[in-house]
Amino acid sequence: MDHILHLKCLICGREYSPHEIEYVCPEHGREGVLDVRYDYELIARRFSREHLQDSEAYTMWRYKALLPVAAGAVTPPLTVGWTPLYETARLAKRHGLSTLWVKDEGRQPTASFKDRASAVAVVKAQEQGAQVITTASTGNAAAALSGLCASVGLANVIFVPANAPQAKLAQLLVFGSTVMLVEGSYDDAFELCQEAAAEYGWYNRNTGYNPYMTEGKKTASLEICEQLGWNAPDTIFVSVGDGSIIGGVHKGLKDLYALGWIDRMPRLYGVQAAGSDYLVQAWEENADVLTKEPIVANCVADSISAGLPRDRIKAMAAVKESGGGYIRVSDDEILAAIPALARDSGVFAEPAGAAGFAGLVTALEQGLVSRDERIVVLNTGNGLKDINSALKAVDLVGTKAFRVTPSMDDLRPVLSQVPGTSKVASTS
Ligand SMILES: *Cc1c(COP(=O)(O)O)cnc(C)c1O
Ligand SMILES: [Zn+2]
Repeated sequence: MDHILHLKCLICGREYSPHEIEYVCPEHGREGVLDVRYDYELIARRFSREHLQDSEAYTMWRYKALLPVAAGAVTPPLTVGWTPLYETARLAKRHGLSTLWVKDEGRQPTASFKDRASAVAVVKAQEQGAQVITTASTGNAAAALSGLCASVGLANVIFVPANAPQAKLAQLLVFGSTVMLVEGSYDDAFELCQEAAAEYGWYNRNTGYNPYMTEGKKTASLEICEQLGWNAPDTIFVSVGDGSIIGGVHKGLKDLYALGWIDRMPRLYGVQAAGSDYLVQAWEENADVLTKEPIVANCVADSISAGLPRDRIKAMAAVKESGGGYIRVSDDEILAAIPALARDSGVFAEPAGAAGFAGLVTALEQGLVSRDERIVVLNTGNGLKDINSALKAVDLVGTKAFRVTPSMDDLRPVLSQVPGTSKVASTS
């Protein structure tokens, strides 16, 4: 792994060899989030856009040369990454935009963005010969780790809040993880997981603690730029809980800029739920995220409910350095965004996934973006992850199913009320 120069502390700037430090800067304990720094000159000599043109690896591992793993590392067999970037003409038109793409992370193997990070976690754990790997999660990071571990046969212990959505819990149990339903919040689950990992010596995947998770997540922005022929978009909307996704998206763009593969940095907008808006508050108050107190988080989008975003240093840098911002959306706006996005694009998002799109709608209302920008919205998770919220969302917009007996006589009067379903003349 000579392509890694060092791990750099984002608080004090101290640099560590990856052999010397596993997770955080010892000077700052839990808060000392590290950033992986690469030797771009060396990477550029080994890896180019031409290599990618010839690559048949349509997974996140097509960028292995830019990831913190050995060139010869065996990667998990599940297909992670290279999710579709849909150009959504009708959705764009409805909002008066010239171009809008949706990157659909609901298409990942365990149906959320988190697979990108968990795939790297599994490789790193195996590199160290770890017997057990652990994470705390609101649900998706857990499901991702659980599925990726199942694909390679690695034992894992998962800590989730006891109220995690059923679908995510089902994934964990089906994949055979040891599941701890923690009676408390995600923040409580995180603390317990940290203590258990330290006491039992498990490999720790925790977000905002393990420095390699943002590296996995950055592959989304590498893909976006490659899918757009290295013509970077102007603006990207990302839903934010712990801030690891937005930090990762930013990192990928910085890598590409350093390599000279893109010629400008897109602006990043982070979107948070009003009930979990730590970073929006910090943005508005220009507060230092190292000293700002945790808030009590509670919102419809469980995946972005975080009272103290664990990757807040990277998350704040991502919007500050890129010239973007933080946007707050209400629970009702998030729920409304689920059918709105689905009906004009065919992409079904869970609440946290639709929040990115809700943020775009708000940004347009506030005049933060202009109509001719090339915009990408991430859908970070599949709508099937949280059916209760989806049903609530369609109820809010007044969509109902019809109930009929199995008889044409019953069906006809019902259909006569429905626009667009009138009888067509036979063409034969
Ligand atoms: C985890 C998650 C997010 C937020 O990612 P962070 O890195 O915590 O900011 C957004 N959407 C979904 C569906 C997620 O699972
Ligand atoms: Zn430090």
